[in-house]
Amino acid sequence: MADRGFRVVVAGAGVAGLFMTETLKRAGIDFTVYEKAAEVGGTWRDNTFPGLFVDVFSRQYEFPFQPNYNWSRKYAPATEIWAYIKRVARDRGLTSFIRFNEAVTAARFTGGRWHIETGQVNTDDADVFVCATGFLHKPLLPDIPGRDSFAGPSFHSARWDHSVPYEGKRWGVIGSGASGVQITEALAWAGCDVTQFIRRAQWVHIRENPYSTWRERLKLRLPGGYAREQRRLWQMINDGDSWRLYPGPQREAMEREYESFLDCIKDPELKHKLTPDYNLGCTRIPKSDRNYYEAVQLPNAHIVKGHIERIEPDGIVMSDGTHVALDVLVYATGFDPHAYMRPMNVTGLNGTTIDEAWKERIYSYGGVALPGFPNLFMLYGPFSPVNNVPVPLGLEQEIGCIMRLIAEARARRAATAPTVAATEKFLARLGAAFPGTVWVGGCKNWYTSRQPTPVLWPFPQGEHKAFFEQVPVEDFHFTPTGHGD
Ligand SMILES: Cc1cc2nc3c(=O)[nH]c(=O)nc-3n(C[C@H](O)[C@H](O)[C@H](O)COP(=O)(O)OP(=O)(O)OC[C@H]3O[C@@H](n4cnc5c(N)ncnc54)[C@H](O)[C@@H]3O)c2cc1C
Repeated sequence: MADRGFRVVVAGAGVAGLFMTETLKRAGIDFTVYEKAAEVGGTWRDNTFPGLFVDVFSRQYEFPFQPNYNWSRKYAPATEIWAYIKRVARDRGLTSFIRFNEAVTAARFTGGRWHIETGQVNTDDADVFVCATGFLHKPLLPDIPGRDSFAGPSFHSARWDHSVPYEGKRWGVIGSGASGVQITEALAWAGCDVTQFIRRAQWVHIRENPYSTWRERLKLRLPGGYAREQRRLWQMINDGDSWRLYPGPQREAMEREYESFLDCIKDPELKHKLTPDYNLGCTRIPKSDRNYYEAVQLPNAHIVKGHIERIEPDGIVMSDGTHVALDVLVYATGFDPHAYMRPMNVTGLNGTTIDEAWKERIYSYGGVALPGFPNLFMLYGPFSPVNNVPVPLGLEQEIGCIMRLIAEARARRAATAPTVAATEKFLARLGAAFPGTVWVGGCKNWYTSRQPTPVLWPFPQGEHKAFFEQVPVEDFHFTPTGHGD
């Protein structure tokens, strides 16, 4: 039965918010979720561009409480991931807890509780506030002169305009990250005239993406089959990712394998343009299911490398004066990775805002909590393991830890936040682990920009699990509030 005294508010109904919703529902806690959009799904609702497939095994992009035995392929298309997420929300009755089209605009901790304001001029109070607002949700548009002058349709990859017909248009795609690669590949194979504008080449994983067979699906349904398979995949993650953390033969072998993907490029100039000059794995690796390198050799596909000088009504001018005529322009230029819950205005103890707290550097305790912000929790906050590890895996561990802290705070009729000392210790441990990883040493990526260290987890996934299972209560302050039951 729901406990009416104690209340939680969650912002966001993507994968993280839904995982939290199911967990709070099961715990019988009174709570409300606010979602700024009209649907669940976050990333998978917003990114509908052609060619988007999940970059980890579909089987690992599952909520542990709702197995999916029917993925069509080893790496499912985004549409299938979104359909699965919507199905989970519907089957488990999660949507009834969500107030759609209602963004949390501000949250202030006063009088031992969180006071929440939403875009619908609604206010709400809660003992605990959970930000499940995502780390890749605020599209970034490049600061290129003349951007607004472009005469044809132009849009960010996360805001794909499906009213624009593919045929008979000259498409421009700005960006060489995962989205830029997948969009260029899809448009090229669809026969569109497409030019991809890149500043630097990316390592691209050319992978096989077979359809799943009835035998594989059946195996999962046999007694113990699902658990066995999940254990195997978990082990693969732990073993397979160590090359990012430690230099050595495994990393060298990986680089050789990736270099060999480029061998299918016949034109030496094109091959040179597409050969990366940084360590494999320092950025999220774009995945290609229909051989991007073959796709860009089609007569209708073009790669332009260099600095974009300006955008004009009919195309793009490069710094060497080259003009590329275009009808449609796609910005595959990524997201503001350091926004987290912002632009929401979050105010903790002593009137300190999140902007003030993070002015010099972004920090957190374990990616889930912040000193000075009692009973505020984040999912996939700063330093969560964002690099090539399936997001649902990390969520299980983070949410387990948050639920233990909530229970402890509730039992003590208190609000909890990590101590400054424990947070600094956590950050120092991470700082000491980065040297030697692929993410430092001249590697430019969005995890690092404007920050002293990359804002991700520099240990194996197994250590992430161990960390969250053993978070010591002594790392947290408990300030009495009188609320709790
Ligand atoms: C193009 C793309 C491809 C990706 N592919 C993969 C992949 O293959 N594998 C992988 O593991 N990860 C991938 N990711 C990372 C992906 O973001 C995560 O896997 C996962 O979807 C994050 O879930 P989330 O719930 O934390 O955030 P999101 O999916 O971003 O959801 C956040 C939700 O919060 C809502 N929200 C935000 N602010 C507010 C507010 N103030 N008030 C109310 N609601 C708010 C948003 O509308 C959204 O619904 C990809 C990301 C992108 C952008």
